[in-house]
Amino acid sequence: MLTGGILVGAAGTLLTVLMCKAMNRSLANVLIGSFGGSKTGSAIIGEQGSYKEISLNDAAVVMSYANKVMIVPGYGLAVAQAQHACHELEKLLESKGVDVKYAIHPVAGRMPGHMNVLLAESDVPYEKLLEMELANNEFATTDVVLILGANDVVNPAAKSDSASPIYGMPVLDVELAKTVIVNKRSMKPGYAGIENDLFFRPKTSMLFGDAKKVLQDLVGAIKAL
Ligand code: NDP
Repeated sequence: MLTGGILVGAAGTLLTVLMCKAMNRSLANVLIGSFGGSKTGSAIIGEQGSYKEISLNDAAVVMSYANKVMIVPGYGLAVAQAQHACHELEKLLESKGVDVKYAIHPVAGRMPGHMNVLLAESDVPYEKLLEMELANNEFATTDVVLILGANDVVNPAAKSDSASPIYGMPVLDVELAKTVIVNKRSMKPGYAGIENDLFFRPKTSMLFGDAKKVLQDLVGAIKAL
C-alpha cells in the first residue's frame, strides 16, 4: 500500500508540474494565487462590445466549402460528451475533400492530456491531433477554425494583456485563420473567469448551443446541402 501510495503521489506531482509548465505559472502561484475574477486590464466582463452569430446552415456551408478546417476542442466538448459527434463531423467533411485536423492545447480541459483521451475514445486518428506548436504553424493557412467549448486556451489576452491573469500562458493562435467559429452555450467565461476578446473580433462568429447538439445538427445540415 505504501509503495502504491508513493507511486500515485509521484505521478500526481509529475502531472501537476507538467500542468504548471503548460500554463506558464509557478506551482506556488497555482496553489495560492488567484485565477479568474480579476478586475484589472481589459479582461472585464461586458466591456468588449458586440459579437456576431452564425446560423447553423451558414456554418455548414462555410465548412463544407473550406479546404482546411482546424477543430479546437476544449473543456465544453468533454462536458457535452460530444467527442463522437465531433468525429462524425470530421469524417463527413473529409469525405467532401476538406482537410480536417485538431489543435490540441496541453491544458485544454481539466487535466493534462484531457483532449487526447477524449478524442481517442471516439477513434479520432492520432495523426490528426496537432500539438500546440505544430497547430500554431498551420493557423495562417487554415480557412475555418471551429472552437468547441474552448475559451481560455484561445484567449489572445494571454499574449497581449499584461494585466490578465492568464498573461504568459501559451495559447492557440486561432485568430490567424481566415474564419473563426466558436461554439459554446453563452458568453460566459471559462475557468479563468475572464472575458475573451477573440469572441468580439470581426473574423469571429458565435454558434451557440450545447456542443453535442450543435455538432449533430451540423452533420445533418451538411448532409442536406
Ligand atoms: P475553459 O474552461 O476556458 O472554457 C470552457 C468553455 O466551455 C466555457 O467557456 C463554457 O462556456 C463552454 N462549455 C461548457 N459546457 C459546454 C457545452 N455543453 N457545450 C458547449 N460549450 C460548453 O476551457 P479550456 O479548455 O479552453 O481551458 C481550460 C482551462 O482550465 C484553462 O484555464 C486551464 O488553465 C484550466 N485548467 C486546466 C487543467 C488541465 O490540466 N487541463 C487543470 C486545471 C485548470 P458556456 O458556459 O458559455 O457554454
